[in-house]
Amino acid sequence: MNEPVRPSNFLRTILREDLESGRASAIATRFPPEPNGYLHIGHAKSICVNFGLAQEFGGSCNLRFDDTNPDTEDTEYVESIIRDVRWLGFQWNGEVRYASDYFGQLYAWAQHLVREGLAYVCELSPEDTRLYRGTLTEPGRNSPFRERPAEDSLALLEDMRLGRVEEGKMTLRVKIDMSSPNLNLRDPVLYRVKHAHHHRTGDAWHIYPSYDFAHGQEDAIEGISHSICTLEFEDHRPLYDWFIEHLPVPARPRQYEFARLNLSYTVTSKRKLKQLVEERHVEGWDDPRMPTISGLRRRGLTPAALRDFVERTGVSRSESVVDLGVLEFCIRDDLDKNAPRAMCVLRPLKIVLRNFDADAQVLRAACHPSREDLGQRELPFGRELWIDRDDFREEAEKDFKRLVLGQEVRLRNAYVIRAEEVVRDASGQIVSLVCSYDPETLGKNPADGRKVKGVIHWVSAAEAIDCEVRLYDRLFLDASPDAAEGGFLANMNPRSLEILRGCKAERSLASATIEHRFQFEREGYFCLDPRRGDGDVPVFNRTIGLRDTWSATAKGN
Ligand code: ATP
Ligand code: MG
Repeated sequence: MNEPVRPSNFLRTILREDLESGRASAIATRFPPEPNGYLHIGHAKSICVNFGLAQEFGGSCNLRFDDTNPDTEDTEYVESIIRDVRWLGFQWNGEVRYASDYFGQLYAWAQHLVREGLAYVCELSPEDTRLYRGTLTEPGRNSPFRERPAEDSLALLEDMRLGRVEEGKMTLRVKIDMSSPNLNLRDPVLYRVKHAHHHRTGDAWHIYPSYDFAHGQEDAIEGISHSICTLEFEDHRPLYDWFIEHLPVPARPRQYEFARLNLSYTVTSKRKLKQLVEERHVEGWDDPRMPTISGLRRRGLTPAALRDFVERTGVSRSESVVDLGVLEFCIRDDLDKNAPRAMCVLRPLKIVLRNFDADAQVLRAACHPSREDLGQRELPFGRELWIDRDDFREEAEKDFKRLVLGQEVRLRNAYVIRAEEVVRDASGQIVSLVCSYDPETLGKNPADGRKVKGVIHWVSAAEAIDCEVRLYDRLFLDASPDAAEGGFLANMNPRSLEILRGCKAERSLASATIEHRFQFEREGYFCLDPRRGDGDVPVFNRTIGLRDTWSATAKGN
């Protein structure tokens, strides 16, 4: 009846039809990251689309590193990408694969094209190559090297491979059509000379294949049925198909494009994220404000929330920007259902219960209001407690339903207390409150019918653990930081991180691990940071507030 509407995904339709018509006997996809940076939320979309469709149709998905550019690639990135894909919950088919596994085969196919008269070694300088290419409105001109005999090209190609040619002096180009309206077909480059050390093949190669010459052939070698990529590759598809047609490849993969994921208040470009890291605008690739998968993980998102978000954004061919609120909704939805509750006082103010002369007590509270399976926790209660400074006022104010001098408030999961007296230091700063508690109000309202409206959180001063809390906000001020005046760096939110030290958390949080997520009651959703703070105390990151406070600033009860 109330079936949620499944967001549209045109690829699903194509895959189903291809299976039904026999165009494909099984679904085989791949996720092909270039190991030149950490993955971001846009890549998460590509991962979910590729692995998700394979799963849905009983097929397989490969993880293949597109490691064809040794200048920018590194094993640190390879490792982080493997970790991220696993964390998202996906398992690739067989071993991790690398474009560099196929360098030998690609080279043999390049020689094949030369022998067939379809490729040639070109000695135009990079500058001349550009001039000869023409423009969108003007056709290009044939390279003077285009008709050189195949044997000459083969010999020169071998020289290039062996490192006998300077960078920029020669390229191997394929002969297609210098007057094609599609610039990608104007004799594109297959190989460039590069005397670089490769993180896997070392110094074995002095030439590296272009993306276009590598990608489709790798797909064919791996038996990929549907090569799914983003729309910027649409104009490369004729070239993709050209290679598949003109080479003796073992399979005939096809390329399909969908629109990239764009998110408001977020930059999703590896180059720009790298700049944020290298120029130290953030702590690192896994800074919890970063839209990288590792940043989102450290921030406390769960893989399920991220997968849910991607599913909700659908798969289409029209460019759009997804509102960050959609992601925030998915995070809250997941954490509200699954995160155990706990109490943590972010800005501690000591209170002393003057009439509490019993021994310390241990109260119990449910870990979740509706999930009995999450159990209960112990809450030590005693004469001295911490409450939040922001939860106290000396004078009543309209709409302030917390603790006011001379009035009552309920301590969450405990008793009703009354603030009786303010204690100040020499400079007049409030250092503590003297309060009284009503022992008859544990789990029930005052017997005489007194109405106590507010509820505040607290922890036992004797038993609390010290911790640091980090509150995060959006990294950029504008919805489109890329379009901001002065560029995205000029648009950074100066208040994207607030560090609170000397916070006091309930004792049960001492056993938290980075796998856990919590709702700190009245404060938001938090997780333990992998690193300790000053004084070796645990650090809790706020994943997200309890409700959308971007526009509203009121802190409710
Ligand atoms: P960036 O544009 O951030 O530099 P990229 O496209 O160069 O990323 P790759 O490592 O080549 O990074 O990307 C791996 C795969 O992820 C590609 O298939 C690419 O199309 C896809 N991808 C990258 N960004 C997005 C995005 N924003 N939304 C969906 N898919 C994406
Ligand atoms: Mg790319």
